Amino acid sequence: MEEKNLKISIAHLYPKLLNLYGDMGNIITLVKRCEWRGIQVEYEEINSGESISSHDLYFIGGGQDKQQQDVAGELYKNKEFLQQERDNGSVFLGICGGYQLFGHYYQPFDGDKLLGISLMDAYTVAGKKRFIGNVTVETDFLSPSTLVGFENHSGLTYLQGETKPLGKVVVGNGNNGQDKTAGARFKNVFGTYLHGSLLPKNPHFADYLISLALEKRYGKKIELSKLDDELEIMTHNSLVGKAY
Ligand code: GLN
Repeated sequence: MEEKNLKISIAHLYPKLLNLYGDMGNIITLVKRCEWRGIQVEYEEINSGESISSHDLYFIGGGQDKQQQDVAGELYKNKEFLQQERDNGSVFLGICGGYQLFGHYYQPFDGDKLLGISLMDAYTVAGKKRFIGNVTVETDFLSPSTLVGFENHSGLTYLQGETKPLGKVVVGNGNNGQDKTAGARFKNVFGTYLHGSLLPKNPHFADYLISLALEKRYGKKIELSKLDDELEIMTHNSLVGKAY
């Protein structure tokens, strides 16, 4: 199928509440990398009180504990629907606070436990220390194999069951600063602590997510045309292994 005849629908979940450290850059990257190829994008913002319809790809950013509390209730109302979307192959990308709500719960330092939507078998508890700094992750499914970004979280995320990490922490703290895991994946649900934003300097991961969303929509693998990523890869490589 020619790319100009392709389309994907992207839902941006609660951007007015969860959109920290440039997370909007992830949406801009996904939309631009489709448009540069002639792939149409239907982009929809879902804000508090609005219903969620079916999409090929869902994105949710990060935020402070207070904004997470506001979003948790909204998300929880759509738990069954979003789990069905996961099982139908929709792609999800959650960053930091949004990632934490993809699990069973997030227990902030102060206040009540926030119930997550259990898209993945994971849970998060706030730690005493805030992890802030650059992160490099070594994956076994991307080429190049690395992911780079910036973390700022006190939450410690632990993975269970069939939920696997995105990769191994090479620089930084990752999920919890203990087990050297970074991020998480279950089916087409991806979560990570990498802000910055993540996708502009990890174009290979952006294309991986776009390919999965197209495969979900059209029921077959679709080879994406190559883009001139010289600048993006130069930026990526300049950050690999960098702590400061
Ligand atoms: N409030 C959460 C934490 O501190 C998430 C922070 C974020 O999204 N950057 O762990």
